[in-house]
Amino acid sequence: MNTNVATFPASKPGHRLVPALIGTRKSARVAPIECPSWCVEDHLASPMQFEDIIHTSASEDVGISSFLKPDGSLLMYAMLQVDPASDDQRLRQAHIGIEAGDMPEYHTPEMAEAFADDLIAFALQLRGLARTARLHNQHAAEVAA
Ligand SMILES: [Zn+2]
Repeated sequence: MNTNVATFPASKPGHRLVPALIGTRKSARVAPIECPSWCVEDHLASPMQFEDIIHTSASEDVGISSFLKPDGSLLMYAMLQVDPASDDQRLRQAHIGIEAGDMPEYHTPEMAEAFADDLIAFALQLRGLARTARLHNQHAAEVAA
């Protein structure tokens, strides 16, 4: 082994080295950090303490509109996150943040899959309600004709 060769920083699989602004607003320096390939955070946007860095994916979201309120509003969104310096081992691992109100709820991959199954069941029930409503309206139109 050649010990004269300086160690070149290499990133883990699925990660890349990106520049991050580490420190405070008064005293910050740029340093390379390991960032998952799915992270969309700009780690240069504002200075952060190393332990406050969180990696976040783009969010998947679903909105809800109605015929009385066509603009709609954001119902729920979900994104991947990793909090490498968290005290909670589940937050240090990749997890899914799902936000439907003020604060995101954190899910392990298994919890997120179970929740997705619930949403699929809900979507099928919603289709059933739509089918029933359409039949009801058709029947009402036929009676009126
Ligand atoms: Zn990142």
